[in-house]
Amino acid sequence: MAQFCLILFGPPGSGKGTQAALLRGRLGLAHISTGDMLRARIASGDDLGQEAAAYVNAGALVPDEVVNRMVEDRIQQADCERGFILDGYPRTVAQARLLGAMLKARGVRSLVVHLRVSYNEITARLSARRQCARCGSISNTSHGEFCVTCGSRMALRQDDRPEVVKQRLEAYEAQTKPVLEYFREAGVKIFEVEGGGRTPEAIAMEIEKAVEVDAGANVRTA
Ligand SMILES: [Zn+2]
Repeated sequence: MAQFCLILFGPPGSGKGTQAALLRGRLGLAHISTGDMLRARIASGDDLGQEAAAYVNAGALVPDEVVNRMVEDRIQQADCERGFILDGYPRTVAQARLLGAMLKARGVRSLVVHLRVSYNEITARLSARRQCARCGSISNTSHGEFCVTCGSRMALRQDDRPEVVKQRLEAYEAQTKPVLEYFREAGVKIFEVEGGGRTPEAIAMEIEKAVEVDAGANVRTA
């Protein structure tokens, strides 16, 4: 059976990480965070990890081609047998090209889920988000000003300040949103989901159905 790749796509604050956490169990897919993968690979000290570490230590971005090779290795691990979820990757058209070619060569079936949330709602969500400086727990202002885990005071993250959120959304518009157009032109199926004004569980259920329909269609045409 072909591996399945679910690409969660959407602006910062659209709930990609939350959906990945909910969907991995429901769908039996591995969740690949490229940031975690990169850190694990560097810590392992193998050839590719050392190559990446050289860039990181020089204060440079790890080249797309190196990240893509890590993704290709990662999806051959046992927990990815049925498939995997990518969240926050690819972020640029160059990354999408490399990833798309690799997935195609490996015969991986892909579905892109586009979480649509208005920029007003994102700004409101992120400005209400709070993080514990001591233990890293995430919460929001409606849950009070102290961490439920360790009791420390919760604070607004620097990159969740409205002026920074505006910059992050502008970067998304300029660099990341064109990825959607790339996938559309490449013939990858895109499922549009309303990501605002509902519970994360309701959104996850709708995505789950779309995945089932997609898998069903594939089974019939196989
Ligand atoms: Zn805490």
